[in-house]
Amino acid sequence: MLIVANWKMHKTINETRDFINNFYENFKNKEEFAKKNKIILCVPFICIDEALKQIRNKNIDNLFIAAQNCYFEKEGAFTGEISAYMLKKTGIKYVILGHSERRLLFSETDEIINKKVLSCLKEDLSVILCIGENLEQKNKRLTEEILSNQLIKALKGVSKYDLDKIIVAYEPVWAIGTKKSASCLEISKIARYIKEEISSFYGKDKNLVKIIKVLYGGSVNTENANKILKAENLDGILVGKASLNYEDFLKIIYCAK
Ligand code: PEP
Repeated sequence: MLIVANWKMHKTINETRDFINNFYENFKNKEEFAKKNKIILCVPFICIDEALKQIRNKNIDNLFIAAQNCYFEKEGAFTGEISAYMLKKTGIKYVILGHSERRLLFSETDEIINKKVLSCLKEDLSVILCIGENLEQKNKRLTEEILSNQLIKALKGVSKYDLDKIIVAYEPVWAIGTKKSASCLEISKIARYIKEEISSFYGKDKNLVKIIKVLYGGSVNTENANKILKAENLDGILVGKASLNYEDFLKIIYCAK
């Protein structure tokens, strides 16, 4: 299983160091856990260096660091932006793209997300690609149509040989930060749909269904993680608020078998 923490705009450099120290010291059976599971911490840009330093010092090999965004140009007059190329040079391996907060609060379109996806793949960075419908779309039974459309646009120009570097996070907008998660049945149906839909873009290649990884995100917490992680066709979870406290995050992690 893959357990991803999205810290969003939380934690300073010192808080990042303390989190990783506490998390690691209190992590029971880490070696056993590491045999089957992987953890990714998506931290603010300024915390990447410290997070990588802590992980290297402790020789942790199943804990990875990710950025929460990037810009699609390599370099230039783009004040305030950070490129995939620059991120690659920090030593990280993953970038979250297309989060609904970026889409809604920062007007990121599917076309912009696609450019960002391609820029990350060019730098050999893996992408955690967030997609999801809002409540109105869900109520109109448009979920599959919305997801398909987001996937087609985000993956435009992506070679099937790069799909092992794309992890899709199904994050229904109505479930993010609302304490209302999708049901296990909904999650397993959608995870299967996403895998089959992507494989259909590439000539229904059956092998792709096995390669494509799908996570669920949206109000995962210490109470529901156990159940959600049992959803069929699911490869892991993306945790927002409940990943900010190392004790809660550990409780969630222990649910992964
Ligand atoms: C998120 O925003 O990616 C997320 C999953 O948030 P939360 O767990 O807080 O709903």
